[in-house]
Amino acid sequence: MGTLKKAAALLLCLLFAAAGLTVAAADYPELTPEELDPAPSLLTVMTLNRETGAGGPATQTDLPGEDFVEEDDPLGVFTINHGSRNSKKIAITMDDMFDTEWTWKTLALCKQYGITMTFFPIGRSLKEEDRDNWRAVIEAGCEIGSHSSYHAQFKGIGEWIAIGRLGKFQEMLDKTLGFHYEVRWFRPPFGNISDSSGRASTAMVRAIRTYGYEHILRWDVSNTDPNKAFEATRNGSILLYHSRHKDYVCLTELIPRLLEAGLQPVTVSELFGFPPPETSEELYTFDIHDYVGK
Ligand SMILES: [Zn+2]
Repeated sequence: MGTLKKAAALLLCLLFAAAGLTVAAADYPELTPEELDPAPSLLTVMTLNRETGAGGPATQTDLPGEDFVEEDDPLGVFTINHGSRNSKKIAITMDDMFDTEWTWKTLALCKQYGITMTFFPIGRSLKEEDRDNWRAVIEAGCEIGSHSSYHAQFKGIGEWIAIGRLGKFQEMLDKTLGFHYEVRWFRPPFGNISDSSGRASTAMVRAIRTYGYEHILRWDVSNTDPNKAFEATRNGSILLYHSRHKDYVCLTELIPRLLEAGLQPVTVSELFGFPPPETSEELYTFDIHDYVGK
């Protein structure tokens, strides 16, 4: 009986803890009925993330059908895995930048082959001493996206924490560049925002959209074996690499093969028909109050 009572008491504690969390979540300011009631696109996201599961890269079976990316509304979904399958354009992307040596070498590779790609550093890998290198990335026509301020999971965190990590990344990037560069794409660390059930929470989708990103960007090809990567790449593919020696070596072999096959590596913005991100003189400073009631 004693054990049962203890278990009951523990259960009550857990219930109260859960209730406390619910109260905290309800403090999120000025929710509209639309925000409380997820739109169909949000439901699609939740289904997608449940199918793909937490942490792992998308596989071919995880990918939505050919008509998932609508021709007239290519970005009608929250989670993007690839671009149009009817276009030869593909996007090579590189994440993290824990070791920027391979980032700059990859940039040289882009220049060598006359292609562009998108880099997703974490905020903490951005250093002011690398200012010229990051400026060179933009000058080469390449793009910079956000991988958040540091490399931590987005699942299970509060909405304001998520907004803070996104805002801090933009602040760190502007400080590094010395000008404002309006980041358009967010790729979450580990590629997902799902909670422990494998579902993307509506709250997290709402937080990311409150900050200003309409989508999260994933990938449909992730392989450092150039043969396997080449075989997996299709029209519209988004390829995931990291700033590491083995990834760089793979790209030295893969890029010429992709070009030979008639595929055209471009930035993520170009893949979806956007102009390059806008720049301006005034540096962005993150202030959580700017997002209250948005
Ligand atoms: Zn990463």
